[in-house]
Amino acid sequence: MIALFSEKIRFFDTTLRDGEQTPGVSLTPAEKLEIATALNRIGIDVIEAGSAAASEGEREAIRLIADAGLHAECCCYVRALAHDIDLAADCGVDSVHMVIPVSDLHIAKKLGKTREKVWEMALEAVVYAKERGLVVEFSGEDASRADQAFLGSLFAAAVEHGADRLCFCDTVGLLTPERVAGVLPPLCGAPLSIHCHDDLGFALANTFAALKHGATCAHVTVNGLGERAGNTPLEEVVMACEVLYGTPTGIETTQLYHLSSLVSRLTRVELPTNKAIVGAMAFTHESGIHAHGVLRDSSTYEPIKPEIVGRKRRIILGKHSGSASVLAALNEMGYEPDPAQLREIVGRIKELGDEGKRITDADVMAIAETVLSLATEPVLDLRQFTVVSGSNAIPTASVTLQVYGNEVTGASTGTGPVDAAIKALQNSVAAVADIRLEDYHVDAITGGTEAMVDVLVKLRRDGDVITSRGARTDIITASVEAVINGMNRLLRSR
Ligand code: MN
Repeated sequence: MIALFSEKIRFFDTTLRDGEQTPGVSLTPAEKLEIATALNRIGIDVIEAGSAAASEGEREAIRLIADAGLHAECCCYVRALAHDIDLAADCGVDSVHMVIPVSDLHIAKKLGKTREKVWEMALEAVVYAKERGLVVEFSGEDASRADQAFLGSLFAAAVEHGADRLCFCDTVGLLTPERVAGVLPPLCGAPLSIHCHDDLGFALANTFAALKHGATCAHVTVNGLGERAGNTPLEEVVMACEVLYGTPTGIETTQLYHLSSLVSRLTRVELPTNKAIVGAMAFTHESGIHAHGVLRDSSTYEPIKPEIVGRKRRIILGKHSGSASVLAALNEMGYEPDPAQLREIVGRIKELGDEGKRITDADVMAIAETVLSLATEPVLDLRQFTVVSGSNAIPTASVTLQVYGNEVTGASTGTGPVDAAIKALQNSVAAVADIRLEDYHVDAITGGTEAMVDVLVKLRRDGDVITSRGARTDIITASVEAVINGMNRLLRSR
């Protein structure tokens, strides 16, 4: 294994500052505290809670986090301004992340200043922050495009004036791993952090190059959130340290997926399904050869066990499935086909997959029941549903169902007509089962307002989880159909 510069990598998480600068993302103080608490629990060293100069809401969030009694250092972003430093100190933070533009481009175009002026402001700000009792992480913004001699002497002067740590920022993601060793400033007796952006997809590689050549702390964000293409993802640095570099991080890796899901939910930034470590498909197999291999020995097609990051392996069925994974799925659902029946079921699943469909659990059950000639009476039968929505109406739905032969009517309001309809269905069956909606996904199959829409839902009843589909030109009807299909399966599986 290739050794990193330090045996102990520190993690400076900026999800709540740089991550929150993701276009369209805005967190409330309570949400920021929830994320900070999760970051603290997982073992992050420094939490950059926000920028106190930004708004009163930001200050409230920073104060909440600073006062929460976390082990992690609570840090606030500041410019080289006494005003920013005062606001940060008044929030009760431990440290400031003092960001100084250092490239001539940023100094001239962004600030309209000179190197001399920036030098003077930066050192004054360091001295002032130290007077206010703060730990100072002194950051060179756009350092990868700066005159490296200027950067080196500014860093040395900052340390002489009391800066505790330094940080090299590749602000627009233009570094390459090969260039890192040449541009990292000489160590000035202060620990060095690396802050990378992923504009060209090199953030992780550049971060590791820096960790090999002198940096001891990685600036990261959960899920790689951040401006434009984002920052270096926490989960990827942690797992690469642990698995590829043999450098224990001290991070509670089994909490990584929970943290990722929390941040994705609160920021409303969905992850690409193929995102490393935390994407929906990162531990999902469909291909027959892969699934068969994984069922025998997971290391055949999984570099790490999903449990290590708090996840579970999923085998999904589709046209690439082989009989081993279909049989494993059927057995789990309680079906015991003979070899001829299994062949028939596999054939029908592949046919459905060839039509371009994603195969849901409800599809597999319906096929299995047909092939095994199992008589099935639906537990639920929809009699009617009505939805009212409009500019002056609270979205409201009522449904009438036969549930185990009894007629039940339920109603609900919702944030929209689909939400109201699904809640009305849940209310109608509440007396017999607590069925939760875990996931709702809609695709327009063609396009335009007359398009067929495909609704996929994931429902949970205690430990049982099931996926099902509805496809209609009417999104509400498709949603109701998907939920009824799934509920029918969940109620019957008892
Ligand atoms: Mn940044």
